[in-house]
This record gives sequence, structure tokens and C-alpha cells, in this order.
Amino acid sequence: TGPEQEPRPRRRIGVMGGTFDPVHHGHLVAASEVGSRFGLDEVVFVPTGEPWQKVDDRRVSPAEHRYLMTVIATAANPRFTVSRVDIDRGGPTYTKDTLRDLAALYPDADLYFITGADALTAILSWKNPDELFQLAYFIGVTRPGHRLDGSGLPADRISLLEVPALAISSTDCRDRVADGEPVWYLVPDGVVQYIAKHRLYRPDAP
Ligand code: ATP
Ligand code: MG
Repeated sequence: TGPEQEPRPRRRIGVMGGTFDPVHHGHLVAASEVGSRFGLDEVVFVPTGEPWQKVDDRRVSPAEHRYLMTVIATAANPRFTVSRVDIDRGGPTYTKDTLRDLAALYPDADLYFITGADALTAILSWKNPDELFQLAYFIGVTRPGHRLDGSGLPADRISLLEVPALAISSTDCRDRVADGEPVWYLVPDGVVQYIAKHRLYRPDAP
């Protein structure tokens, strides 16, 4: 029998949603680690749409900046891609919409939604988490300063994974730029340069 007659195994696609304002090495290590542990064929980074309101009392950078920084950060990895589904839909992003759109784009794939402890807790408190579990398998990654309580989670749809400790957050990167401190080695080199070129996160920014 030729290879054309063998059933094609379902592709395994990781989905890494985030504001990515800016994307940093914590995101990249988490995606790489989950990709390796779960044998993922691809990890799709999905920057969120532009919220209509300020989030946590701050203005989120324009979607195009966050999208381009994510493209720069992931360009060298053949298994990393970036999707515009949340940006092009517009408005605040709901994981349900992200997963529906990606399921339509990747009909032959199983989706693995990768998320930090903070976001996972929020997702599970939603009205209808079962709907999310039908769309994807969830992988909660722990980061320094956050603890994941596995009790009460549906074990068949969620895994918890500790990623190498990287105490990096976008909030800290933004604060550093605003204070004139370096973000070299916290974010990819191209992202350092993009931030400087576009004067992002500066106190005098418009
Ligand atoms: P902010 O400080 O603005 O909240 P962030 O660093 O948490 O930014 P997000 O874009 O909000 O970055 O994160 C996207 C996803 O990556 C979330 O699921 C978040 O929990 C996860 N994440 C963020 N930083 C890390 C890290 N250092 N290690 C592992 N996962 C992380
Ligand atoms: Mg966050």
C-alpha cells in the first residue's frame, strides 16, 4: 500500500494566546517546552484583539505592534507561527472565539491551548467551561510567583506543566523600558530593537 492510502494522523497544534505587549522569552520557552513534551507539530501564537476599554488601568499597545513583535520573535522557529484571528475579529478576545476560528482553519488537528496559571483560573471560572474543553485540550504552565492548584480540574482535558523558571513578565518589561532600564535578554534582540524604533512603553509616548 502506498503512503497515500495510510490514514493521516491528526496534527497536534498548540495555541498560545496572549496580549504579547511585548512578547518575551517566558512565552517562547513555555511554547517550546509544551511543544516538546506534548509532541506538537506547531505552536500558533495568537495576539489578542484591541480591547475597547483600558485593561488593568493601562492602555494596551496597538494590535499591529504586538502582532509584528510576535512575528519577529517567532520567525526563526519552523514550528512557531502567528495568527491574526483575534486581531482581525476586533474587540476583546474570548478564548471560545479563538478556538472556534482555529478549529475551522485546522480541521484535521487537535488543539492544545497553552496558558499560564493566572489565565487558566479565569477560564475555568467561566459560565460554560465544558464548551471550551470540547474545542481543545488545556495545558496550564506554571510560572514563578503563581501556583496552580490541580484539584477540581477535569483531568482528562487539562494538564499542568512546570516550565523552567523564568521570572519574566510583559509588565516588568514595560516598566523597565519606561524607567530606561535594559530589556536585553528578557525579550528577543529584534523585539528590543522594535521597541526602541517605535518608542513603545516610554513615559513620553503619545
Ligand atoms: P502582563 O504582565 O502584561 O500580564 P504577561 O507576561 O503575563 O503580560 P501575556 O501576554 O499576558 O504576558 O501572557 C500570555 C500567556 O503566557 C498567558 O497565558 C501567561 O500566563 C503566559 N505567560 C506569561 N509569562 C510567562 C512566563 N514567564 N512563563 C510561562 N508562561 C508565561
Ligand atoms: Mg498576563
